[in-house]
Amino acid sequence: MNNLDILNKKKLLTDLKYDVYGKYGFYYYVPMAESYTVQIPVTVSCSYNKCLFCDLNSNKKFKELSLDEIEQNIIKLKTLSELRKNNNARFLLAGGNPFVLNTNKLLNIAELIKKYFNSCDYISCFARADDILRKSDEDLKILKAAGYDRLCIGLESGSDKVLEFQQKGVTREDNLNAMRRLDEANIKYSSYIMLGLGGQDLSAEHVEQTSSMLNLARPFELTVVTLVLFKGAKLIEKVKSREFKRMSPYETLKEGRELLNNLNINVIWNATHKTNLYPVKGKLPEHKDLLLRRIDEVINSLSDKNNLKQYELKRWQNWGVDPGTGNNL
Ligand code: SF4
Repeated sequence: MNNLDILNKKKLLTDLKYDVYGKYGFYYYVPMAESYTVQIPVTVSCSYNKCLFCDLNSNKKFKELSLDEIEQNIIKLKTLSELRKNNNARFLLAGGNPFVLNTNKLLNIAELIKKYFNSCDYISCFARADDILRKSDEDLKILKAAGYDRLCIGLESGSDKVLEFQQKGVTREDNLNAMRRLDEANIKYSSYIMLGLGGQDLSAEHVEQTSSMLNLARPFELTVVTLVLFKGAKLIEKVKSREFKRMSPYETLKEGRELLNNLNINVIWNATHKTNLYPVKGKLPEHKDLLLRRIDEVINSLSDKNNLKQYELKRWQNWGVDPGTGNNL
């Protein structure tokens, strides 16, 4: 291939990617466990869109793409895969919570994927607990048979107080029931949990209730993230009014340590998300002691309070909001 061919191919790849993902604007979210899948846009934004801590979709109205639009996306993604000589057979439906789509539409999407791609190992997507609970047991089994697997649930917390304060719109019981329903349908799932979500007042409750909830469930992976004050999040108002007292990154590291220590399930602990103060990943229970030791080393090394203050301020500034006032920097 000469230089001109390479440039043309690069341009074609860029144009195709813009055609498929341009509708998402700046924000485009993929579950960490599914970063290397073929990502098919099916919805834009989130159908709920009310969580206080979230501004992922603040500028976008929820929209379901039509089956025609989805088919066009799949055709372009097929071309992209061929250009990249990529035989990936794992798929992700992109959007805030595509599992909100009705069962028939999800089945139609699975058929389209199989029409254009030679094989399909599984189809994953983000799901809220109530998206799962609205589906019947029979629907979940049919979806599993069609390829839906490795869903990603944004649990965030196991504490009703935290979930209510953050206006998550589901309860601890909903989270637990959703995971049980997936277990019964033999659908695997990963889960997001968020350190610092209870603030200073509810930290102990958040740790205790989240770990006890997780100990009753069977996620294959926990994606551990730390609360960040995004510029468009409604939580900023609660920080300004002191109704929500943020935890420092150092405190959230200790919170994560407690949560990890309380877990007694087989799961991958994945805290490598860039919001976390210290990235660690390992398998529980095998690596639990090692992970705890590593976190303890960091906690001890950060015990010089002057350095810590500078370090934390720098981290918060990365996310554009003053830690004390909640004002934009
Ligand atoms: S956290 Fe998830 S469910 Fe809540 S508004 Fe954001 S995308 Fe929607």
